[in-house]
Amino acid sequence: MRLNENILISSLTTMSLGGPARYVLEVETPRDIADAYGFARTLKLPTFVLGYGANTIGRDEGFNGVIIINRMQGMFEEPIENGIRLKIMGGEYWDHVVEYACNKGLTGIEALSKIPGLTGAAPVQNIGAYGQQISDVLTEIEVFDTQTDSVKTLSHDELQFSYRHSILNTTEYGRYFVISITLELHVGVMPRPFYNSIETFMSDHALTDFSPAGIRAVVSAIRTEKLPDPSEKASAGSFFKNIYLSETDAETAESNGIPIRRGDDGIKINSAWLIEQCHLKGKLLHGFRVSKSAPLVLINESAQSYADLNAARAEIVNKVYDKFGYWLEQEPVEIVNAEQPNPAAAPGTTPIQNTPIYGAN
Ligand SMILES: Cc1cc2nc3c(=O)[nH]c(=O)nc-3n(C[C@H](O)[C@H](O)[C@H](O)COP(=O)(O)OP(=O)(O)OC[C@H]3O[C@@H](n4cnc5c(N)ncnc54)[C@H](O)[C@@H]3O)c2cc1C
Repeated sequence: MRLNENILISSLTTMSLGGPARYVLEVETPRDIADAYGFARTLKLPTFVLGYGANTIGRDEGFNGVIIINRMQGMFEEPIENGIRLKIMGGEYWDHVVEYACNKGLTGIEALSKIPGLTGAAPVQNIGAYGQQISDVLTEIEVFDTQTDSVKTLSHDELQFSYRHSILNTTEYGRYFVISITLELHVGVMPRPFYNSIETFMSDHALTDFSPAGIRAVVSAIRTEKLPDPSEKASAGSFFKNIYLSETDAETAESNGIPIRRGDDGIKINSAWLIEQCHLKGKLLHGFRVSKSAPLVLINESAQSYADLNAARAEIVNKVYDKFGYWLEQEPVEIVNAEQPNPAAAPGTTPIQNTPIYGAN
């Protein structure tokens, strides 16, 4: 286990915001986990589990607590019919896992190529992209339960996955440290039709390689065109979530001229469309650029503080609310000192709830 003191959260997160964390503990073996939580308890400090920091934002005042990072590496596979069961330690970089699977001709996660982050974080918000989500292939995870100080297994069903949610970021937020995850992947190709942007890209470029490696190449190319590379431009990916609606609310939205998408994952409004309609695409707000190619993404070009983010967020949320009557919900989690409310990952948040969470009215 490695212990560091007074590390800037801005250096640990891709949005590059946030003051010092009092302690950062990097766990390298399962035995380290109990020691890390024991360390925090002895000092009576709160804990926050961090991965690569691609979906997490720090605040100016920093964190008077212990950040714990899973650095455990390794992948272990066993054969199943027409595929493999793959157990991956939470410290593995997620995209290495996708690359490994695609190189073996295994389908199931190829559309999740190039999502920045560590494997331990992947089930937390049920990462998804281009028609796939990790819950489609995840069978179980191994966790350290901070309530009982014991290691246990949580099944797919126990995790209660939905769009950008699992119990890990809702009802049991902060309780479990993800040690490893297990996926079942099969030899094959993604079923058609593919997600719109994949179909369009393939037909525009006359591509016919539908193998996992072929789809990975397409998704990587689309993402390079659309999304900022966190190693070059500071962002937390999509800053706002899409809005999921009931059928009745969707009909109301449609009658008001708002485009609705109906898919396997539910009925949704593309929040990027709402932002675009408010003429915010490409705008620089308090140091944050609303991405031209992906308006849900805020790029930190010159913001110095969390106060800038607060101001930019309020401007976008208010404009969308004033024009359409929908509240945009924030996707990234924030590292907060115990007494502050956290605008994301609020326990009990449901995918179709659309209520204000940071009171922008
Ligand atoms: C440019 C860009 C593009 C992105 N594109 C997508 C996309 O297409 N689809 C998508 O779903 N996401 C996307 N994201 C968001 C992000 O990549 C994912 O949420 C990813 O899983 C975050 O991994 P991380 O290791 O950085 O997690 P972190 O940001 O470090 O943590 C995220 C959450 O998981 C918790 N956590 C982390 N590790 C553990 C653990 N071991 N045990 C328990 N809890 C843990 C943290 O406490 C926090 O609540 C994107 C982000 C960026 C910057």
